[in-house]
Amino acid sequence: MKAVVFHRHGGPEVLQYEEAPDPKVGPKDVLVRVKAASCNHNDVWARKGLPGMKFDLPHISGSDISGEVIEVGSAVTCIQVGQKVLSHPVLSCRTCEWCTSGQEYFCRQLKIWGFQTGPYDGGYAELARLPEVNVIPIPPNLNWEEAAAIPLVLLTAYHMLVTRAELKAGEDLLLWGSSSGIGHVGIQIAKIIGARVIAVAGTDEKCSKAKALGADEVINYNTQDVAAEVKKLTNKKGVEVVFEHTGQATWERSMTSMAWGGRLVVCGNTTGFEAKTDLRFLFNKQLSLLGSHEGNKAEIIRGLKWVEAGKIKPVIDRTFALKDAAKAQETMEKGLHFGKIVLKP
Ligand SMILES: [Zn+2]
Repeated sequence: MKAVVFHRHGGPEVLQYEEAPDPKVGPKDVLVRVKAASCNHNDVWARKGLPGMKFDLPHISGSDISGEVIEVGSAVTCIQVGQKVLSHPVLSCRTCEWCTSGQEYFCRQLKIWGFQTGPYDGGYAELARLPEVNVIPIPPNLNWEEAAAIPLVLLTAYHMLVTRAELKAGEDLLLWGSSSGIGHVGIQIAKIIGARVIAVAGTDEKCSKAKALGADEVINYNTQDVAAEVKKLTNKKGVEVVFEHTGQATWERSMTSMAWGGRLVVCGNTTGFEAKTDLRFLFNKQLSLLGSHEGNKAEIIRGLKWVEAGKIKPVIDRTFALKDAAKAQETMEKGLHFGKIVLKP
């Protein structure tokens, strides 16, 4: 099969479109002919390498795919050849205490498919092998591109807002990075819950797109003072919940934007991992800092019901041919997009 592979860490130039061995299907695996894959920041982190993390090389990235099942292993019971599926990217043992209590993200054998490749290679390829438990039938109202755009961002945003932050109707939410994959899905989840969304983006054009997705208020962080605007919009109260995934660059403004008793939920941290917290505010205002990482299969299935009902719409910014994955990642790193960037084999 053809795949996008890197043999060493580095810039987009290390991504090679080349011949790779076809995946061999194990007893509990399915083989999917990939119709579309989508890009995530995970892909860039793996390509560059992260301090303290070991990546198997050569590496095929890609945590999100849609496609058609073309082969199933001898012990597969729930998935059939010919089914249209999307990927659930959390690989875990499925038998430990954490996995069987619905907390597969704590499994000691946890791997994010396509990020920590091996033994399962990721989805930047013509064919993808996944455990049966890691594929889910595609809602009928999605095309291939939309189905590939949704899994990881839906899972992440759902776990952050529904499970971790327990966002409630009537609460104010400050949401950074509205134009990102998780940001644009986060806006839509928060509106389903009935919260008031204050969405932040870096251009007026992105702000209007956030508004079109349902954001009640928008703030352009390049031309406006985010903390001051939040104060103004909430009558000095601050927001009950902050949706953080940018990290270092925005952390202090997130902390000062919270209401008394506010909750901050954080994942990813695309601008850096070192943030400063004034602990006086943390204890005095009784704030909660909530880490979030991935989610479980039930959360993605529940989120997909909202997608099927048309309440969450994945936004595709643009589509590249699989061989142009380097260009696609460059576009994502420059932040030129709104929504998701999709690759087509
Ligand atoms: Zn486990």
